[in-house]
Amino acid sequence: MSSSGFASQNGAGGSYANGPSQNPVGVYPSNQGFMAPPQPGYMNNLPTKGPPPPPPSGPNLYGRHQPSPVGTPGALPASPNHMSVLTGPPQGTATPPPANSYYQQHPHQPGWSGVTPPPPMGNNASPVPSAMYRGGTSTPPVFQNAMQPPAPSVNNAAMTAPPALNVLAPHQTYGPPVGPPPPAAVRGTPPPPVPPPPHATHSDGMYPAHPGQMHRPMGGSYPSLQPGYQSVPGMQTAPQMPPHAQMQTQPQPQMYPQPSPGAAQLSSSLASLSLQSQTPEALRVVNLLQERSILPPGAVTPPTPCLPQDLQKINCSPEVFRCTLTSIPQTQTLLNKAKLPLGLLLHPFKDLSQLPVVTSSNIVRCRSCRTYINPFVTFVDARRWKCNLCHRVNDVPEEFMYNPVSRSYGAPHKRPEVQNATIEFIAPSEYMLRPPQPAMYLYILDVSHNAVETGYLDVVCQSLLDNLDSLPGDARTKIGFITFDSTIHFYNLQEGLSQPQMLIVSDIDDVFLPTPDSLLVNLNECKELVQDLLSSLPQMFSKTMETQSALGPALQAAFKLLSPTGGRMSVFQTQLPTVGIGALKPREEPNQKTATKDVQHLSPATDFYKKLALDCSGQHVAVDLFLLSAQYCDLSSLGCISRYSAGSVYFYPSYHKQHNPSQTERLQKDLKRYLTRKIGFEAVMRIRCTKGLSIHTFHGNFFVRSTDLLSLANVNPDAGFAVQMSIDENLLDLQVVSFQAALLYTSSKGERRIRVHTLCLPVVNSLSDIFAGADVQAITALLASMAVDRSVTASLSDARDALINAAIDSLASYRTSVLSIQQPGLLAPACLRLFPLYVLALLKHKAFRTSASTRLDERVFAMCQFKYQPLAYLMMMVHPGLYRVDDLTDEGALNINDRTIPQPRALQLSVEKLSRDAAFLMDCGTVMYLWIGRNCSPVFLTQVLGLESYAAVPLHMTQLPELDTAESARLRAFVDWLRERRPFHTILHVIRDESPLKPEFLQNMIEDLSESALSYYEFLLHLQQQISK
Ligand SMILES: [Zn+2]
Repeated sequence: MSSSGFASQNGAGGSYANGPSQNPVGVYPSNQGFMAPPQPGYMNNLPTKGPPPPPPSGPNLYGRHQPSPVGTPGALPASPNHMSVLTGPPQGTATPPPANSYYQQHPHQPGWSGVTPPPPMGNNASPVPSAMYRGGTSTPPVFQNAMQPPAPSVNNAAMTAPPALNVLAPHQTYGPPVGPPPPAAVRGTPPPPVPPPPHATHSDGMYPAHPGQMHRPMGGSYPSLQPGYQSVPGMQTAPQMPPHAQMQTQPQPQMYPQPSPGAAQLSSSLASLSLQSQTPEALRVVNLLQERSILPPGAVTPPTPCLPQDLQKINCSPEVFRCTLTSIPQTQTLLNKAKLPLGLLLHPFKDLSQLPVVTSSNIVRCRSCRTYINPFVTFVDARRWKCNLCHRVNDVPEEFMYNPVSRSYGAPHKRPEVQNATIEFIAPSEYMLRPPQPAMYLYILDVSHNAVETGYLDVVCQSLLDNLDSLPGDARTKIGFITFDSTIHFYNLQEGLSQPQMLIVSDIDDVFLPTPDSLLVNLNECKELVQDLLSSLPQMFSKTMETQSALGPALQAAFKLLSPTGGRMSVFQTQLPTVGIGALKPREEPNQKTATKDVQHLSPATDFYKKLALDCSGQHVAVDLFLLSAQYCDLSSLGCISRYSAGSVYFYPSYHKQHNPSQTERLQKDLKRYLTRKIGFEAVMRIRCTKGLSIHTFHGNFFVRSTDLLSLANVNPDAGFAVQMSIDENLLDLQVVSFQAALLYTSSKGERRIRVHTLCLPVVNSLSDIFAGADVQAITALLASMAVDRSVTASLSDARDALINAAIDSLASYRTSVLSIQQPGLLAPACLRLFPLYVLALLKHKAFRTSASTRLDERVFAMCQFKYQPLAYLMMMVHPGLYRVDDLTDEGALNINDRTIPQPRALQLSVEKLSRDAAFLMDCGTVMYLWIGRNCSPVFLTQVLGLESYAAVPLHMTQLPELDTAESARLRAFVDWLRERRPFHTILHVIRDESPLKPEFLQNMIEDLSESALSYYEFLLHLQQQISK
């Protein structure tokens, strides 16, 4: 298999990843800006605004939206040989820069506001507390029985529909009742305005709303479910379909009363909106040099797209689907002038507390571009709908005329597919090219001396034992184990054996499977043997003196074992692989403390792991890597195995059971989540957008199958993705554009399912409107992914310069083209006021910093996280939260399920915010620091920490004692609440002045001057200087 084909899509020649190489940021040879003309870097150099380079050649191949062939898109690929479907895109796919960099904008129009008052509470797509992750993932709607036995095919799935319906239409849950079609006279009736769909009250449902949403409105409301869709206990048994008799006595079709809130009504709605919104808070001019308190007191909320309320209400949740610009520029020229990146951020398989699920034998899609029918299509009349992506007019199928929610006929716009921007279909057989695979789990465990010494085996085996019954799956689920050191050990777990049988293969140059049929066994039938093995594994190697690691051959063996079915490999590795194929050598510079601008060895040393990952992807095998090590393991090489196979990477530096107990705790908690979270197998995700827009660069862990199709051997609820976009054709006639992500996967219960998210955004034609809709967090996250690619394809300093230039260029554009009145200072629109701070935070982050000593693996891991963490979690790592916590009160606290959760104000990340007589909590995502001031009040020390004095604070303290005091309860409630909002475990370190971790704590004080990095204020001065040139 040649790798050149892959390289063209998944890495242009470079063996690094889905990323760097396909990333257009590399188009300009000496360019330091992501979107901008070439500029020298910051610090000493001046970003001269030279003429932009010519547009890259051949954008059409890659950039254009290519309608999929009818009938097959999204379907499971016929051939596992993905080579055959590859097309070679040109290297350069970047947005061509404008011919002229700046143009004078007419005085800004106040008509558009990117920030409108937050929508009402009840954002249903919010994160679920960790305890609910399993159950909350797919709330069974009434049309689907959660307790149903696994349904290998759609026909079986349909059988779970209420009996009344089955009588009529055994193969479709949503079939129309027997009755005449609506009278022709109805067609073409001018549609009156649409009332918003009734809001379901869901607080009494099975799944409580997310705590964080109870009292804190978030941007973007997730559409509530129709009454018929509520997952209220008891309703499962109540047939939602009308009784047979009733259906027959309901021959009268409903009048075709109104279309969905489609684009037809937009024109007038948008026009009136423009006039109404007179308070463009997003465009309020902020002089960053003067206004220091720019952090909002609580969470930073995404801007709400400037859409008519009925559309906005139904729009996709920003937690699932976000765009860097919530107002889409009409032309690429306009986008270029704004100097802001255009891209989407997705969290497509996020755990949702409410998810409408539809079983249908006929999933309605556009005949031309295969878009799924969605809330933003237009009903031309009662029988025809117009696609919002390609504008083709399609017929409404007969069965779609029946609405199971309102139990009425002739109201297709009230169907759940047209009422929910996020919806899941149970797919009929045409979406499968082979029977859905069972859940397959293979564990590959390092048992070398080094591995055993860390003590990790106990934790992994115990976690597996504890969660064996919670692994997602059904009666078909299979499990297997491989261990390795310098040889490879298989385990025969066949039913009937009295104990597991170990089979050692020492020929690592030509690995074979000793007993292929008994290595992956049915979990239910062989559970006792599996438990036996897990109980004895840690002891089996306790005396080993074998130091070598044959990881590559072990992975090859695992691939052989899983390739007939597909599945998930979980690999645990504790050192550099030393023997056999894929062996690596240490590459880390002995002394990386120097503040050199460039870091070597960010790209892999071998393409073995990438090639194997591509083979895995072709066979629907994903590889998740757990790296637990005190030494350099070359994550940039090993990580490829997960990156291209759509796996995940977990990294536990300095893992040791005794020496580093907090890492052990983290591994335990992470494993529980990992083993029990939802999983999708043999998945593909296609992202479509309205004609005129095109996507061109993907970020995340996947294999790019074609221009808009990602191959995901596995998909998990904690994976995020990003794509960059360009505007190929002017969107002159459009009021809105839409984006649709469709994720086709096999559930752990063997159902083929399609989760569809559709996002609708307005099109604007002025720079001020573009700026008003800028989503600063989404922009930051996309730039971070682009900077990772740039670090690998060019250099770290190049990436850093590009980040700085992104801030300079966008603020310069704002100043010259949006501001009508020039004034001194560093000016930013309110919606972008955090942009320079976030850019500085990226520059000081482990991934991109040059100022502090950073282990190479830790840097590479940080870069990996930027590529695949969903936005919400990524931002925790970019800009930590800092809170004073010694004086927590119940004032303004959240009240969730009888819990009172204090809400301290977020503070600037500067030591000047600390005081010696207080205590502060810093939340950095995977780690929290509780800093205790030297003169902290004795009340806090005794009531919260249970300690007599400051001197008694231990150097290593990672738990808050559960004291029966109000102070203790408040702080623990706050910490628990923060932890619940993420799917990974967060270690807490209590620190004081003498603590060894104090430097790490201080490194997160982003606003402060450090050894060789600017303070925030200096950084602002630098930006101002560059902008005014
Ligand atoms: Zn279409």
